[in-house]
Order: sequence, then C-alpha cells, then structure tokens
Amino acid sequence: MKKTVLVTGGGRGIGAATSRQLAAEGYAVCVNYRSDKISAEAVVADIQAAGGTAFACQGDVSDESDVMALFDAAEQVLGPVTHLVNNAGILFEQTPLVRMSVARFNQVMITNVTSCFLCCREFIRRAQQPGAIVNVSSAASRTGAPFEYVDYAASKGAMDSLTKGLSLEVAAQKIRVNTVRPGFINTEMHTDGGEPDRVARLSPQIPLQRGGEPEEVAEAIAWLLSEKASYVTGSFIDLAGGK
Ligand code: NAD
Repeated sequence: MKKTVLVTGGGRGIGAATSRQLAAEGYAVCVNYRSDKISAEAVVADIQAAGGTAFACQGDVSDESDVMALFDAAEQVLGPVTHLVNNAGILFEQTPLVRMSVARFNQVMITNVTSCFLCCREFIRRAQQPGAIVNVSSAASRTGAPFEYVDYAASKGAMDSLTKGLSLEVAAQKIRVNTVRPGFINTEMHTDGGEPDRVARLSPQIPLQRGGEPEEVAEAIAWLLSEKASYVTGSFIDLAGGK
C-alpha cells in the first residue's frame, strides 16, 4: 500500500527530522509550513536528493479552511493521506501563569490543540484504513512547566486526552492514534521561549545528562506510525532522557 504522510510544521526541528526519516522509510511526505517556505523547501530538496518523494505545502493548521486545503493539496499531489504527524506547536517566553495574557493563552491553545483536533478530524473523515496518527505532545504535560509555560503544558495535556479519546473512537476502524512526549530536545523552539541555551542549562538535571536530538524523536514517531507498532494505540512514548 502506498504510504503518504502529512507532517505539520515540518520545516524545522522535530518536524524536519521526522519528514526526512519517514521519506527514507518510503513515505511520500507532505511537509507543511506556516510561513517559512525556504526551510520547508530545503527539507523537500534533501528528501528528493536522497531519492524520496515530498512536497512543501503552506497552511496555518490552526485554521479550519487551511487544514481542508492542506489535505486537498496533499491528496492531489501525493494521493490520499494515510498517516498524520501533528507536530506543529508554539510556546512563548518563560513567565509565571499570573503574568500571562488571555491573548497568549488562547494563541497557545489554538495553535497546539485546535490544530491537532482539526487535522485529526480531517484525517479521520478521509481516512484510508488502516491508518495512523502520532501527536507530538511534551514532557511538559506531565511536569506542568511551572514558572515557564503552564499554558503550553496545559495545551499538551489536552493533546494527551485527545489522543486517548480519539484512539478509542477509531480503534475499530483500524486507525491507531498515539503520542510522543519529548523533552529537552535541541531545536530552535527554546529561542522562542526566551532561552536558547535552556537544554544545556538543564542537562545536568536530566538523568541521561544531555539533551535529545530531533532525530531521536523522529525514530519513535516512525515506529509508532509503522506496522511494527500494529498493536499499539492510545499510548505515550516519553523521550525526555529519563525525566
Ligand atoms: P520548532 O519551533 O522548531 O517547530 C515547530 C514548527 O511548528 C515550526 O516549524 C513552526 O513554524 C510550526 N508551526 C507553529 N505553528 C504553526 C501553525 N499554526 N501552522 C503550521 N505550522 C506551525 O520546535 P520543535 O522543537 O521542533 O517542536 C516540534 C514539536 O515538538 C512541537 O509541537 C513542540 O511543542 C514539541 N516539543 C518540543 C520539545 C523540545 O524540547 N524542542 C519538547 C517537547 C515537545
């Protein structure tokens, strides 16, 4: 069966590593990006240079009409989407909850949770069976990220619940839904959080004594999407060095 995967926010970080990994495993990859076309096209060029199939597609995945257009485009160019990685996510500068604005809180929720809901819904509506979804949550859903980003942690907690509930709703349709929960991964996201060197600062407190690499998360995502994980649904893989 032809495998086509949509990776949201696939232009950099974990999404880029996942796009490359899945392409190497034979998936045709739709690399979604919101605004950074150059990075997404660089990922696509890498994949094509290695003999894989990919295309870059713009779309704000927190927007309902963009999500529908994204699936339409992916289907038109690559064929029906058989696998989905809900990777797109944001966080803002570290701050205690008491100083967070409603605008910030809502932006985090819409970008991290509504986007996941919209993409899952569109995938299920069009799904080819069997299919699989992996949601990229965070170790923050377990820790709560106090004094840093409780809003972000709460959004990831919502993704975990969505994973569990949806996995049970679609299990009989042979669609598996799982989650990875990375923590302390070396990507540019920490710059957005106001501390580019956050992973290095926290490394001594991580049991494995180091940050993780996007490729290490991509491996787990690829496994969960694959038939090797055919009896796994509603599950969570923690990738946070033992934290
Ligand atoms: P990143 O900032 O490099 O990647 C996030 C990507 O999502 C970016 O390309 C961004 O443009 C995209 N994006 C954001 N909003 C979007 C939207 N509305 N529509 C389309 N794309 C959008 O960070 P990353 O570390 O690679 O993060 C990837 C995922 O992993 C995120 O969901 C993040 O919460 C999660 N995560 C990361 C870490 C870490 O330590 N880096 C830890 C836990 C979880």
